[in-house]
Amino acid sequence: MKQLQEFIYPNSIEEALSFLDESTEIIAGGTHITVSKNQSFKRLVDITRIGLNYIKKEDHQVRIGSTTTVTEMIESSIVRKIGNGILTKACQLIADTPLRNIITLGGNIARYYPWAGLPVVLLVIDAEIIIVDKEGLEQTISATKYFKNAKVKTGEIIKEVVFPVQSDWFYRYEKFALTTVDYSWLTMAFGAKNEGGSIVDPHIAVSRITKVTRVSEVEKLLEGKELSKLNINEVIQTLRTSVNVVSDYRSSKEYREHLLGILFKRMLNEMKEEGK
Ligand SMILES: Cc1cc2nc3c(=O)[nH]c(=O)nc-3n(C[C@H](O)[C@H](O)[C@H](O)COP(=O)(O)OP(=O)(O)OC[C@H]3O[C@@H](n4cnc5c(N)ncnc54)[C@H](O)[C@@H]3O)c2cc1C
Repeated sequence: MKQLQEFIYPNSIEEALSFLDESTEIIAGGTHITVSKNQSFKRLVDITRIGLNYIKKEDHQVRIGSTTTVTEMIESSIVRKIGNGILTKACQLIADTPLRNIITLGGNIARYYPWAGLPVVLLVIDAEIIIVDKEGLEQTISATKYFKNAKVKTGEIIKEVVFPVQSDWFYRYEKFALTTVDYSWLTMAFGAKNEGGSIVDPHIAVSRITKVTRVSEVEKLLEGKELSKLNINEVIQTLRTSVNVVSDYRSSKEYREHLLGILFKRMLNEMKEEGK
């Protein structure tokens, strides 16, 4: 980082915003800059002291500040109530202990990291992302919109993420990797209601094998279907053809499509068994 001239530690969100421009990079956990190809920044702004480290329970939702670390989320009994523990599980499967101690919620969703574990969780849980711009204006963006085309821009800071608490929903999260600390080969999350044995409002999100996305074709196919009469093979076939699976040096497209089907079949069978 030969061009680096300043390292700033602001004490408020307003102060942090005042330093942001094209030549500046925000540092939260700081884990990405170590591996980033872009080392041309003149100024780094550390946002870990601007008051965004919190987990707050409200009536039917939980607000998590963007600099809250993965370990802090794992240890929180409030976070365990979000999506029947789906956020806690996804956090537990991120990297290793030293990294979990510094990686932050905001840092995991600010850019597109194909191996990032949290975006699929935000998508299936209908989380909302609060972004603040240089004028101090707050924008609330649904996770679906955010990951489609509304990522945080230069001059903005992710302030917090709002998670609804829906304890009557069925949720599952899977990260397929060779070891627990390995980068993901496939990341997937599923959430839906079981109303009298039928699937209602299904949310399916995948990443790593494709750009993080919800799978609306399969969500439409599943809507209102009775679990006991579900043609799982048809669902799996539709899933494999609707996701634009890409291969990488770790595994082929065919292998990943196969894996996608197996993991989702397992989730649907568990939903049937649980009756929720
Ligand atoms: C060896 C290794 C293994 C890893 N394995 C996994 C894994 O298995 N699963 C997983 O999910 N992640 C994993 N990660 C972490 C992931 O790759 C990112 O590095 C991490 O999520 C970034 O979080 P951070 O808090 O360190 O953010 P930083 O590195 O500080 O920032 C990342 C980017 O986000 C921006 N940013 C950060 N916070 C905000 C904010 N509040 N508002 C606006 N912009 C912001 C920064 O400017 C920067 O561009 C791994 C990282 C490493 C180094």
